[in-house]
Amino acid sequence: MPEEHKLSVIIPSYNEQDNISRTFHTIKEILDNAEIPFEIIFVDDGSTDLTYPHICELSKEYPEVKGLSFSRNFGKEAAIFAGLEAAEGACCTIMDCDLQHPATLLPDMYHLWQKGYEVVEGVKTSRGKENPLHTLCAKGFYKLISKATGIDMAQASDFKLMDRKAVDALLIMPERTPFFRALSSWVGFKSTTIPFEVQERAIGSSKWSIWSLTKYAVQNITSFSGVPMQFVTLMGWIMLIASFALGIQSLYKYFSGTALEGFTTVILLQLIIGSVLMISLGIIGHYISRIYNEIKARPRYIISKRCGC
Ligand code: UDP
Ligand code: MG
Repeated sequence: MPEEHKLSVIIPSYNEQDNISRTFHTIKEILDNAEIPFEIIFVDDGSTDLTYPHICELSKEYPEVKGLSFSRNFGKEAAIFAGLEAAEGACCTIMDCDLQHPATLLPDMYHLWQKGYEVVEGVKTSRGKENPLHTLCAKGFYKLISKATGIDMAQASDFKLMDRKAVDALLIMPERTPFFRALSSWVGFKSTTIPFEVQERAIGSSKWSIWSLTKYAVQNITSFSGVPMQFVTLMGWIMLIASFALGIQSLYKYFSGTALEGFTTVILLQLIIGSVLMISLGIIGHYISRIYNEIKARPRYIISKRCGC
């Protein structure tokens, strides 16, 4: 049973050995000062460094620390869901292990929850320091996904506090590849936002490469929306209109006796139709592979070790 006032802080951690202890002590100090009862769940997402041993050491010393360790790297979304499943608090918050989400806001979020808000969303006022290409890609991604999902995601982040009701609603979703950031808005409930500035990562480096971000973007757009498939239909219509125009031109040439020209047009048409078909097949294929993965119904993650719980 969830303890009545307890806050569960869930921290996905992947190769964060130098951050674990610092993050824990920062959060503990803030929450102790605010007299908020809490537990911290570190989810080690298959780290290859000493992240998990560090979590275990902490959990031996402090009863409020729990640790889960995945059998391999399953990704941040899986880690968030594993944490939510293990949480016992009456409300849960998700934070990054590198303290880029300011822990100083936790008491404010908690007080908003006490006032009756069931979802408190952290909203980025600035993206912190990152390379310009990254910012550009992130902007493009959020534009697309906001359009596709109908939820304004431009400033959304994983930093949020959710009431037990919202957490339970999330946990019954059977999706294999959930997109936490959007699902937590999708479930509804009485929500409010709290602005925060993304802090700079103090130790270690970001786990995202451009390639992994692209994969993340494609996966999340398609997990939340079928709009890319409508592109296939749209391209079909565009090609149909073009074919009318070209058809009329060809017939005109045929009847006026000048029909032998036009090899360039034929080649261009072959190329255009070929590529449109390939892209369309690719988009449909992607959705089929998503269906295939969902149907296999494999677990979202596999836990190999636990400590403190
Ligand atoms: N993370 C994770 N699994 C991964 C990649 C990242 O659990 O496969 C965690 C990471 O330890 C951190 C959070 O997700 O707590 C955000 O990661 P990072 O700081 O690398 O991302 P950024 O802040 O650059 O978006
Ligand atoms: Mg970070």
